[in-house]
Amino acid sequence: MEKWGASLYGNPCGGCGFEWSLTPEEAIRIVEGLPAHGRGLLAGRTGYERHPDLGWTPAAYLSHITDNLRNWAERLAGARLSGAVDVPGYDPDLMAEGRNYNEIAMAAALWSLERAADAWAESVTAALAAGVVLRHATRGAQRAEDVARNNAHDGHHHLWDIERILRCAGQPGS
Ligand SMILES: [Zn+2]
Repeated sequence: MEKWGASLYGNPCGGCGFEWSLTPEEAIRIVEGLPAHGRGLLAGRTGYERHPDLGWTPAAYLSHITDNLRNWAERLAGARLSGAVDVPGYDPDLMAEGRNYNEIAMAAALWSLERAADAWAESVTAALAAGVVLRHATRGAQRAEDVARNNAHDGHHHLWDIERILRCAGQPGS
């Protein structure tokens, strides 16, 4: 069985400090706040900054958050609307390669993230109300609230990565 959530990252997360005990409603608020949070962090930046230990640009991390939200929102919708609860794995690195994440413009990545966060919140809210439980190929049962916490952590964690990249890249104009 694949490790996920608090057993993979620690509680709180050893990197970004995310607390896994939060409610699904709090997780939804975190995801709804990601676009504005990302936009604030990246004010005055290009989005193409790099960190020597990280393979992606800030805009690439935003694109990853977006695709992750899209993927899970779609899965929850599939289970709720058609009973398709069995879901396979998902390879974010292949996704990054296929979409050339590091070449995506920051404004485009933010535009996509705003829409993905809205659609995700709608799908997760409906899935929570319907009591959706996915059967993941390698993680086992994933309740809608597990998905909400996992996806909120993903966004929180990668905004922390973006902060690390920007700290490493120095102040704009300096
Ligand atoms: Zn984290």
